[in-house]
Amino acid sequence: MIYLDHNATSPAHPQVLEEALPFLTEHFGNPSSAHSLSRRPRAAVEQARARLAAWAGCEAREVVFTGGATEANHLALRGVRRPGRPLVSAVEHPSVLAPGESLGAERIPVDGQGRIRLDALAELLRKPTTVVSVMAANNETGVLSDLPAVADLVHHAGALLHVDAAQVIGRRAAPGRWDLLTVTGHKAGGFKGGGALCVREGIHLAPELLGGGQERGRRSGTTNPAPLVSLGVVATLEHSPELRALRDRFEQAAIGLGGVVTASEAQRLWNTCNVRFPGVPSDLVVMGMDLEGVAVSAGSACSSGASQASPVLTEMGITTADALRVSLGWDTTQADIAAGIAALTVVLERIRAQGLSAEGTA
Ligand code: PLP
Repeated sequence: MIYLDHNATSPAHPQVLEEALPFLTEHFGNPSSAHSLSRRPRAAVEQARARLAAWAGCEAREVVFTGGATEANHLALRGVRRPGRPLVSAVEHPSVLAPGESLGAERIPVDGQGRIRLDALAELLRKPTTVVSVMAANNETGVLSDLPAVADLVHHAGALLHVDAAQVIGRRAAPGRWDLLTVTGHKAGGFKGGGALCVREGIHLAPELLGGGQERGRRSGTTNPAPLVSLGVVATLEHSPELRALRDRFEQAAIGLGGVVTASEAQRLWNTCNVRFPGVPSDLVVMGMDLEGVAVSAGSACSSGASQASPVLTEMGITTADALRVSLGWDTTQADIAAGIAALTVVLERIRAQGLSAEGTA
């Protein structure tokens, strides 16, 4: 199987396996135990904390390990207790939108390229605001947020800036200005279940999980060394610039096959290609590619059996369910991209020959 769906999750990186696997076997101890079996896992978790802090540009004590980005996002939004309501960008991941909604959050609209509307943000900030959540890179389109401009507005209004960098760690430098920063390891070679919220010193967070008092009382639950060590390794990874050229090669081929690249005018993450084939339902393309041995994703959601454009694309004014998301990662090769292009060519030809359209009629 050729895997081009790294924004969903990724295979473990060899360095991750080398460093993290021993914590599932011989060094299985609980880092909080009093006996000597705790020493190796405890030291490894602290090394991971230091590595993550070095990437994020913060102090190790500002890192709160979690079970992934979903949990970190909940902690960021629900943990900040101040007068006012949160603001969340309209294209955030559901793990931001849902807790935001439970707190009466208002949404910051985006333009047709998926970029935050700074004018709308400035307007929304006129009312008391607790925290503003804006992702570093969008998981469906790869669009990078203009975080310096967002931070200027948010901090000028006296609110806190939360950045979900789930798609950015292991792929590019950390955002520079944030008060709360979400990461997860499994999109870039780490294990699932290892994440963190970095919290600037002085910000009081009400914990979501109470119990044994791990993570200095900010997140109870037995520390899980293997995924956390894997996250620490991911924080040190750098990707070859050749991978961007591979993405561009796929994108050019897709355009040649009638594709329209989503957010082509925006700054985008190097690994992500979201492309629409007008009139061709994306679920058929994904299924066809799967049969050809290539794993990709639809930029659409399935609701009661009928495909609809994803909420992210809908916010950008795209309402047809004809988008495909292809996302590359550390193990993607020239041969993978060639195979992906060949499969796409065959699948589109087949669907078009059958006369199927996104509207279900020829
Ligand atoms: N935030 C973004 C932008 C994501 O892409 C994802 C991944 O699905 C998440 C949060 C959730 O991450 P996790 O699987 O670690 O909970």
